[in-house]
Amino acid sequence: MENQVSRFVENFMAEIKSRNPAEPEFYQAVHEVVESLAPFIIENPALMKNKILERMAEPERVIMFRVPWVDDNGDVQINRGFRVQMNSAIGPYKGGIRFHASVNLGILKFLAFEQVLKNSLTSLPLGGGKGGSDFNPKGKSDNEVMRFCQSFMNELHRHIGPNTDVPAGDIGVGAREVSFMFGQYKKLRNEFTGTFTGKGLDFGGSPLRPEATGYGTVYFASEMLKTKKESIKGKTVAISGSGNVAQYATQKVLEMGGKVVTLSDSNGSIYDPEGIDEEKLEYVMVLKNAVRGRIKEYAEKYPSAQYLEGERPWSVKCDIALPCATQNELNGDQAQILIDNGCICVAEGANMPSTPEAVKLFLDKKILYGPGKAANAGGVAVSGLEMTQNSMRLQWTSDEVDEKLQSIMKNIHAACVKHGTQEDGFVNYVNGSNVSGFIKVANAMMAQGVV
Ligand code: NDP
Repeated sequence: MENQVSRFVENFMAEIKSRNPAEPEFYQAVHEVVESLAPFIIENPALMKNKILERMAEPERVIMFRVPWVDDNGDVQINRGFRVQMNSAIGPYKGGIRFHASVNLGILKFLAFEQVLKNSLTSLPLGGGKGGSDFNPKGKSDNEVMRFCQSFMNELHRHIGPNTDVPAGDIGVGAREVSFMFGQYKKLRNEFTGTFTGKGLDFGGSPLRPEATGYGTVYFASEMLKTKKESIKGKTVAISGSGNVAQYATQKVLEMGGKVVTLSDSNGSIYDPEGIDEEKLEYVMVLKNAVRGRIKEYAEKYPSAQYLEGERPWSVKCDIALPCATQNELNGDQAQILIDNGCICVAEGANMPSTPEAVKLFLDKKILYGPGKAANAGGVAVSGLEMTQNSMRLQWTSDEVDEKLQSIMKNIHAACVKHGTQEDGFVNYVNGSNVSGFIKVANAMMAQGVV
């Protein structure tokens, strides 16, 4: 069986690489999933015969377009826009939009591929997609961001809709960008529908959507800890990033009695051994969301903190690590340092933040490791709840949404335990999330024929 599995993985990856040149992040995401699923697929010849996994690794549709806009100096700028509509077997395409200079087709395909399994795990009727642009919002004026978003939507509006494809935010796309895109969509289509999630509360947004990914990640970490009769209370937590996910993960850790000692951005990290309390977090939220400043300024304001220029926060002693910035931000060496420092739990708020070497170490050392597609699924889950509220034309309370979010995160955890528990009792959340996310999509694809 072992030989058969490695042959299956090797052949599958050879085909992926030859069909999708120069897309390393996409290979990485697919490889992890194929490794998990190979034994399951080999045991189910119908899945093999119907080429379910092969079809899942081929986007149903990719839209790629020019996004021209005029900057504040009157100069014409040209960016590239994308939407990867990966899989609609169980619902309309759903997934965020990323604006970052690094965005390319391969990165969006990795994110869209992960999104399909993640959305299935939420148990809501959501297909998977992802989009974005190599536009960098940093340093741009509000008017430049608005003109860019409008130009981006001038093309994208043709391909999305409440029953077709419902985008949301991601890196570089927060409330401001979603609002500009929604406004332009509404103007072009002359309709008010729930085509975006993460909208403002006054125009169809769901309570708790901004908080959902960060909160959900901490709920998931808490579920994992419970399996070891542990909890967040009293634990020291290292968090990376300082954007949407990092901010609300910090808030929930504080609420649950933990101590957060790090945050970061793409220039460096801050380490505050006294802990980032509520007042300091409020400062970070204003700094990042309104002033759009750098995390370095935290260390200038609070003398208890150190600024680690150009460094990730993983060298700091902690019990729990929550990577909440970006892909491949935690490598094998850093994973080893975390383990040596006594870290017992890693829950990924970001998508694929741990390199394959880091993941292997977490699994070999049998620490609690929650991969992004399970741990950060709270964001898209509340997006799904926003879609429901939009269809019903009503708005739930924050408490109602929080209750549903907690229950969804508990169910995802239970599904991972069901499909990922090894003979020795260790829960391999990678296998658990991949297998349980896959089953529902595969069943739907089998039922719907070769389409
Ligand atoms: P934001 O844009 O709000 O914040 C991103 C943070 O990560 C910023 O602090 C940013 O720093 C940092 N960052 C981005 N790129 C890099 C890089 N290359 N190296 C180091 N730091 C970097 O994005 P989100 O918080 O929304 O997203 C964070 C992660 O969570 C992403 O992986 C995203 O895909 C994932 N995610 C987000 C969801 C959501 O609901 N928003 C849902 C599920 C997953 P800087 O300011 O310097 O760019």
